[in-house]
Amino acid sequence: MQELIRVSDLTYHYMSNTTVLSNINLSINEGEYIALIGPNGCGKTTLIRHFNALLQPTSGDVTVGGLNTRNSKNIMEIRRLIGMIFQNPDNQIVGMSVEEDIAFGPGNLGLSMHEMRRRVDAAMDMTGLKGLAKRPPHTLSGGQKQLLAMAGLLAMEPKLIALDEPTASLDQEGKKIVLGLIKELNARGIAIIHITHNMEEAALADRALVMDKGEIIADGSTADILSRVEWLKTLGLAPPRISELLWTLQQQGEDLNGHIFTVETAAQEISALLKRVRGSEHV
Ligand code: ADP
Repeated sequence: MQELIRVSDLTYHYMSNTTVLSNINLSINEGEYIALIGPNGCGKTTLIRHFNALLQPTSGDVTVGGLNTRNSKNIMEIRRLIGMIFQNPDNQIVGMSVEEDIAFGPGNLGLSMHEMRRRVDAAMDMTGLKGLAKRPPHTLSGGQKQLLAMAGLLAMEPKLIALDEPTASLDQEGKKIVLGLIKELNARGIAIIHITHNMEEAALADRALVMDKGEIIADGSTADILSRVEWLKTLGLAPPRISELLWTLQQQGEDLNGHIFTVETAAQEISALLKRVRGSEHV
C-alpha cells in the first residue's frame, strides 16, 4: 500500500508553551479507514490539523504524498489532497446554493468550466444531494449540511478526509446518513480518519489510533483495541455496549472468543456457544 501521510517525531505546543503533542510517529496509507480516539483535550484535533498544514510542527515533520507541510509551496496541493470536516457544519458553508457551495473549493484550482461541472455533478451524485442543487444551504438539515461539506471536499478529489466529530451535532437520522457516506467514500478508495467519542462509530473503522496526553498510546486493529473493555474505561472512553456485554459474560466464565466487538461477530459467538451447550445437553 502506498504511504500517504508520514508523521516523524512531531512535537507541538501552542503559544502557551505547554506541549500538546509529543514525539508522534505515524504512517497512514492510501485507502485506510482509521478511528482516532482518546479523552478530551488529549490532542486529537491538534494532530489532524497538521495533516493539511493548518498547523506547523514545533519540531519534527509531516509529509503528505511526500510533500513537507513546512514548505509553503506545497500547501495548496496538500489542502487539495487532505480534506477536513469539523463538528459544526454551519461554519463550513460559503455558497448561496448547494451547487455553488460545492463549486467553491474547485473554483480555486483553475479548472475548465466543463471539468468544474463534471466534478460538482459527481460530488452531488456521491452524496445524494442532486435533487437539492438549487437549495440555499441554510434550509438543509444538519445531516444534509455535513453531506454538503463533504461534497465540497469530494469535488477537490482528495486522497483523505479527516473528520473531527462530524456527527456530534446531528440527530440519529443525520448520524446514519453521514456514517453511511463515510463508509461509501472509503469503499471508493478515499482514506478516512475519524475522530469520535462514540466507540460504536469507531468500530466502523479498520484501524484505531488511541491518544492520551499528547501521545499515541495504541495503534492497532479496531477489533483488538475496542475489545480492551477495562483499559478503555481507564481512559474515560465508553466501550461499545456489545463489547461490554460479551466481556462481562467472559468474566463470568463463559467460553467466548476474546475479539468480539460488533453485533454480527457477537451473534456468531453466542450462536456457537448455544450450539455447544445444546450439544452437551443431548449427550
Ligand atoms: P482533543 O481534540 O483531543 O480534544 P485538542 O487538540 O483540541 O484535543 O487540544 C489539546 C490541548 O491543546 C488541550 O489542552 C487544549 O486546551 C489545548 N488547545 C487547543 N487549541 C488551543 C489553542 N488554539 N491555543 C492554546 N491551547 C489550545
